[in-house]
Amino acid sequence: MIKSHINNLQSKGFRITSARSAIINLLESTPHPITANSIHKLLKKVGTDVNITTVYREIEFLLSQKIINKIQLFDTELHYEMADRTHHHHIVCTDCKAIEDLKIDSEKDLLDEVCSDTRYKISTHSLTFYGVCPACK
Ligand SMILES: [Zn+2]
Ligand SMILES: [Zn+2]
Repeated sequence: MIKSHINNLQSKGFRITSARSAIINLLESTPHPITANSIHKLLKKVGTDVNITTVYREIEFLLSQKIINKIQLFDTELHYEMADRTHHHHIVCTDCKAIEDLKIDSEKDLLDEVCSDTRYKISTHSLTFYGVCPACK
């Protein structure tokens, strides 16, 4: 059986507050990165009234446990997503700020090229595309 993040945290002795489990569940069920403000708003919408300070505190906790990653997609706000998602990138609409996950089929070729051109041993990379989404075009 695959242990959930909540079970894992419990077995490490961390307390699972309703805010903590609500934030983990929300991030698990959101298929794209979201900001702390969106987390706050979405929780309110489903009747979990957590104040924004708690949201930020929980985000710091989840980052420290490596359960979530932070991503800088805009200059303004950071976005967060679950760390255990399969490898992907993002495409961002500069008009409506929509964010979608993106898988790139030819990625291996790109990485091979970078490795052979630079002779670096690449440990990680990030790749984000910016443009105008079909709805805003
Ligand atoms: Zn990649
Ligand atoms: Zn758009």
